Amino acid sequence: MARTVLVTGGNRGIGLAIAQAFAKQGDRVAVTHRSGEAPAGLFGVKCDVTDYASVDAAFSTVEAELGPVEVLVANAGITDDTLLMRMSEEQFTGVLDTNLTGAFRCAKRASAKMLRAKWGRMIFISSVVGLYGSAGQVNYAASKAGLVGVARSITRELGSRNITANVVAPGFIATDMTAALPEERRAEYRKAIPAGRFAEPDEVAGVVAWLASDAAGYISGAVIPVDGGLGMGH
Ligand code: NDP
Repeated sequence: MARTVLVTGGNRGIGLAIAQAFAKQGDRVAVTHRSGEAPAGLFGVKCDVTDYASVDAAFSTVEAELGPVEVLVANAGITDDTLLMRMSEEQFTGVLDTNLTGAFRCAKRASAKMLRAKWGRMIFISSVVGLYGSAGQVNYAASKAGLVGVARSITRELGSRNITANVVAPGFIATDMTAALPEERRAEYRKAIPAGRFAEPDEVAGVVAWLASDAAGYISGAVIPVDGGLGMGH
């Protein structure tokens, strides 16, 4: 059955791969893009997840064009790395505002229509770093760990209404985000990953699409690692 899917930050990287996976299986897919143009062949809406009015307007546009959002993939995220002693409060709260509060804003906006439909899927893109920790990423790790609490609390609030909320925790995926790391850091990470390599965005997308399927309807509050064994299932 075709669903209406909204992927935040779906104009590139992991979000784009997720949007393409849903589109390929025949779903009605919208992606949010903060900058630039929508990717070719996908319905795009401008949205900055740090602004509730922008999130609200994006959902309203998607509802008018494609129908109520049945599957939300909260994927938009940023890093702003530095060591704890050097991290400013703005660097901490800025990353939290996009990665954690941004996901909350989208989940809140999606929930009313999902409740009315008595069906919904929320998938939060976290990171191996949320549970594993990472030097230089106190802000990012806190934001990604926070998504676990969000998903589990939503599961408890809305679980009886056929709404699931799960977390996907990717390891190192070949995107602009990891391309920004220095090569020696990337080589160190590759050594630590049992699979011995970074993954392609498609390898995350397949898991997200499956979590939204009827086959995964009894999975909620889970953290699904897609990390080549780095977190050992956490
Ligand atoms: P990219 O940096 O390639 O893309 C990030 C996306 O998020 C872009 O579409 C960007 O939009 C969007 N975005 C950032 N800030 C905002 C905002 N305020 N409002 C709306 N959209 C925003 O990242 P990845 O594809 O690598 O990562 C996607 C998700 O996966 C992130 O949450 C990331 O933390 C997570 N992740 C990534 C891993 C990796 O190894 N790559 C590993 C684990 C988790 P724009 O193009 O306009 O900047």
